[in-house]
Amino acid sequence: MTPQQVVLTAQTLLLDWGDGPLRLTHVQLRAACRCSQCEAARRQGRGQTPAQDIRITRVEPLGHYAVQLVFSDGHDRGIYPWSMLRQLAA
Ligand SMILES: [Zn+2]
Repeated sequence: MTPQQVVLTAQTLLLDWGDGPLRLTHVQLRAACRCSQCEAARRQGRGQTPAQDIRITRVEPLGHYAVQLVFSDGHDRGIYPWSMLRQLAA
């Protein structure tokens, strides 16, 4: 379900499904990336803690179910379903 409000702030992505704003930090979101590249790195124990100054530079809606986040390190492969973001923020 698409949130009613999606606001990118300096440190967080604010999401509101109508029951109060939820916030996820850019660092938290970069760490939660589930693209094949990040998943493989995690499986091989090469998962890295993102730099604390990592920032989301673009938020691209993908239909009604997900959003693509582009990060300041150039990483743009992460697809984040709204349902996953809601769980992550809960
Ligand atoms: Zn990734």
